Amino acid sequence: MRAVVYNGPRDVAVQNVSDARIERPTDVLVRITSTNICGSDLHMYEGRTDFPRGGVFGHENLGQVAEVGDAVDRVKVGDWVAIPFNIGCGFCKNCERGLSAYCLTTADRSIFPNMAGAAYGFADMGPYRGGQADFLRVPYGDYNCLKLPPDAEERQNDYVMLADIFPTGWHATELAGLRPGESVVIYGAGPVGLMAAHSAMIKGAAMVMVVDRHPDRLRLAESIGALAIDDSKGSPVDQVLELTNGVGADRGCECVGYQAHDPEGEEHPDMTMNNLVKSVKFTGGIGVVGVYVPQDPAAPDALAKKGQIVFDQGLFWFKGQKIGTGQCNVKAYNRQLRDLISKGRAKPSFIVSHELTLGEASDAYRHFDARDEGWTKVILKPAA
Ligand code: NAD
Ligand code: ZN
Repeated sequence: MRAVVYNGPRDVAVQNVSDARIERPTDVLVRITSTNICGSDLHMYEGRTDFPRGGVFGHENLGQVAEVGDAVDRVKVGDWVAIPFNIGCGFCKNCERGLSAYCLTTADRSIFPNMAGAAYGFADMGPYRGGQADFLRVPYGDYNCLKLPPDAEERQNDYVMLADIFPTGWHATELAGLRPGESVVIYGAGPVGLMAAHSAMIKGAAMVMVVDRHPDRLRLAESIGALAIDDSKGSPVDQVLELTNGVGADRGCECVGYQAHDPEGEEHPDMTMNNLVKSVKFTGGIGVVGVYVPQDPAAPDALAKKGQIVFDQGLFWFKGQKIGTGQCNVKAYNRQLRDLISKGRAKPSFIVSHELTLGEASDAYRHFDARDEGWTKVILKPAA
């Protein structure tokens, strides 16, 4: 089968790899029809993780079930399914509590002996191959396949967002503690930040502010009723304080991660965290879904190489704020968000700019990585 293979920094190619197949009786084999490129793939694509050469990318997957193992009950051949990027077992202590991003059964403990959590095509998240390919092997298929309604095939561009970024954006607002009628500032208008904004609007936020500097991404934020804050035109903290009568936003979401940079492109991994502390009110909540890594050998400074940042702990403590962080537990939300899509209350496909064939992956990575104007979200269609 064909797959998007990582050959080194900024070098991916569609190559033939061994076929994905049923390896355990609990596996499901899915023929992938929609698979997104994610901002998380870009950290790996740029060589800023230890993702292995020869590995296959792709953790935002949707498709049709092609084959099921003997121990699979619920999922049937022909079902349309969205597949959470986390690989959970469903029966460990963490999965039982809804923490499917921290599964204790599927975790690979070769690097971190106390590791929890696994994902497809992801640095440090186990040996599982990604779904930017013709087929994907889904372990514990009954648990990890979300069945989709009869309109699945026509509305793939919406439902595929259930694999990661729609639940992740939702999770950012949950971690921040957002309640109806509150204000929220979101750093980053990439796909994840835009999904956090979409989630905040659905949850009844009174005011949603989104900080970025790319006009195309900020326009998408405005298209769903958020206020765009262009940080190339002045301090985003000052702009948020001005919009909130000097108080700061009730809640804040970090949707950028450790490669945060200034509008000129220079990286400052502490930038969004400290801007959040300053632009969120006393006693406010901050949700951090942007990725931070325990080590970043290619980072610009010694601290960042060790995965450390200079954090404004004094101001954070003084303001009595709270922070929640980490990977999204997709299973905690994907069923409800599916139903919001199905009933027309959510339309996450508003961010999609490109639907391309698998063969176009290499070009697509280049454009999306450069955040080229108009490249806001790419869906690859292996079956096209
Ligand atoms: P993206 O790279 O496309 O978007 C990031 C955006 O942040 C860009 O538009 C960029 O211009 C903007 N930005 C950069 N520096 C900034 C700053 N200082 N202030 C404001 N905006 C700034 O990526 P994405 O797909 O939207 O993903 C965002 C982050 O979320 C990534 O780190 C990704 O790995 C992570 N992620 C986490 C989870 C999770 O489960 N926690 C899931 C998916 C993605
Ligand atoms: Zn993703």
